[in-house]
Amino acid sequence: MKKVVILGGGVAGTVTANNLATKMADEVRNGEVDITLITDNPYHIYEPGYLYFIFNRLREDELKRNLEELLDANVRLAIDRAVKIDTENQRVECESKSYDYDYLVIATGSRITPEEVPGLKEAGNWFYDLQGSMRLRSALTRFRGGKIVISVIGIPHKCPVAPIELTFILHDFLKKRGLREKSEIVYTYPANKIFIMEPVVEMIQPMFDERGIEYRTFFNPMEIDAKEKKIITLEGEEESFDLLIAIPPHKGAEVVIDSGLGDKGGWIPTDRYTLKVEGYENIYALGDATNIPVSKAGSVAHFQAEVVAENLVADLSGIEPTAAYNGKTFCFIETGWEEATYIRFDYSTPPKPVVPNKLLHFLKVAYNKAYWLTARGLL
Ligand SMILES: Cc1cc2nc3c(=O)[nH]c(=O)nc-3n(C[C@H](O)[C@H](O)[C@H](O)COP(=O)(O)OP(=O)(O)OC[C@H]3O[C@@H](n4cnc5c(N)ncnc54)[C@H](O)[C@@H]3O)c2cc1C
Repeated sequence: MKKVVILGGGVAGTVTANNLATKMADEVRNGEVDITLITDNPYHIYEPGYLYFIFNRLREDELKRNLEELLDANVRLAIDRAVKIDTENQRVECESKSYDYDYLVIATGSRITPEEVPGLKEAGNWFYDLQGSMRLRSALTRFRGGKIVISVIGIPHKCPVAPIELTFILHDFLKKRGLREKSEIVYTYPANKIFIMEPVVEMIQPMFDERGIEYRTFFNPMEIDAKEKKIITLEGEEESFDLLIAIPPHKGAEVVIDSGLGDKGGWIPTDRYTLKVEGYENIYALGDATNIPVSKAGSVAHFQAEVVAENLVADLSGIEPTAAYNGKTFCFIETGWEEATYIRFDYSTPPKPVVPNKLLHFLKVAYNKAYWLTARGLL
């Protein structure tokens, strides 16, 4: 029997497991293949929902599903925390037991590390996990005017466009509550422009200007003075705030770092076409966990999962795998309370944003519901 272990129950792990289980249903049933998904959280989280949750537009129960309900019946689910990936002995060591593998898929995602910036945990807010989103939601409810700073601290981070979306929605949210004129919105970015992709900058920057949203570039927070409520940057600048919404620094999973499989940031060196971990013929990595220079986005994880599942089918059938990921990325960008645009690109085609409109916003809202079908592999 060939054993496939998939580590991580986010988009990348879940979609890979479901695609593989569908394609290998007969082999699993007759005992030739075993598919085990190991994850440390019994719930699958729809992280894009945090952007809506903080404005009271989605409830907590709409952000998560029991993973057991989402997985194909041919996938064995193990709720356990991996502590070491032992590539020599082809084994994943978890807190309660070890799992041998013939093929391993690492889909452990990324995590936020606010503790890396002194003062950020005390004085900052974020919407990149549930606890942070709850705290920010109540801070927004209490906000009565003043200066809000949205600060992207470090690249890469999940969903590169989420801070831009938050800024636009926040502008409309304050307007609706009669607070925009009593408020200043400042957006800061670590690079020399407000976003890494020039076509997006060309569209977004004039929209910031029209709305009176200020921005600072080359802005790298080094410390937050929680008492004085100001950000101190590496470049020697200071920016005061009444409400700080930060995108905290990100790192790869601890198990990746502890197993010596990550680079400095804990990202796994991975071939950008085959999605094989460099130096290993039987280990794939995908989603946020890799060092591939594409967006850390659910859509990327989803497209990559299709490639990994197809290549695993070839591996398990004794055929040379040939499926390749071409960099395909798709992201909606909410540009306000009721309008959106999108970008679609790959390794050879740059994005061409379209004029924002209401229909695209409603498509995104519909996708927030349809997501659960895509995670099951049904869409
Ligand atoms: C606010 C916000 C908005 C976003 N908006 C969008 C959007 O509009 N569109 C889009 O495409 N993307 C968006 N994203 C990004 C998207 O959510 C992520 O890119 C996606 O979740 C990555 O999927 P993944 O499976 O690689 O990682 P994750 O979803 O992070 O899953 C990793 C899994 O690994 C498990 N795990 C980690 N370590 C261990 C361990 N040691 N042992 C066992 N299990 C472990 C975790 O519990 C988790 O289940 C957004 C993200 C955020 C935070």
